[in-house]
Amino acid sequence: MEDLKSIIRNIPDFPKKGILFKDITTLLADAKSFQRMVDLLSHRYIGEKIDKVVGVEARGFIIGAALAYKLGAGIVLVRKPGKLPSETFKKTYDLEYGTDTLEIHTDAIKKGERILIADDLLATGGTMGAVVDMVKELGGEIVDCCFMAELEFLEGKKKLPEGKCFSLLKF
Ligand code: IMP
Repeated sequence: MEDLKSIIRNIPDFPKKGILFKDITTLLADAKSFQRMVDLLSHRYIGEKIDKVVGVEARGFIIGAALAYKLGAGIVLVRKPGKLPSETFKKTYDLEYGTDTLEIHTDAIKKGERILIADDLLATGGTMGAVVDMVKELGGEIVDCCFMAELEFLEGKKKLPEGKCFSLLKF
């Protein structure tokens, strides 16, 4: 995994001073790395019954769509407010400073459907924790929350259901 990790670019002081941002666009833009990342992530779930992959705006759409295609599942979008056209369920969650809100179509997940949630990176876990709540609220059964990368020192895993978190690249 070290080769994949090394392709991710570090951007100091983005989006604000003191934060070292992991810029995953460098990995996505490299054909071999992108293919390998999708293959490694999807391999873990091959043979499992997964009805839908939920992708979190925006980089989670890229990984989520690739996984859904590989696994023969549908792709469901969790978006920032005001982007989804039909009836939505909203969830507001805490950030370091302030709050944020995400939305999902209320009819995107049916009761009992088996759901894999995908995002690019797990940091504090606030975002994925909110998405887990939304999927459960709609009656979905969480198979796993999967990430391309995780900032382990932030302990975001603790905000997710026990044993339902997998990240490929750990920092
Ligand atoms: P959390 O809610 O603190 O876990 O933050 C995770 C969300 O913020 C994900 O949707 C990520 O896309 C984004 N994010 C936070 N830090 C980074 C980073 O260093 N690189 C890329 N995305 C990040």
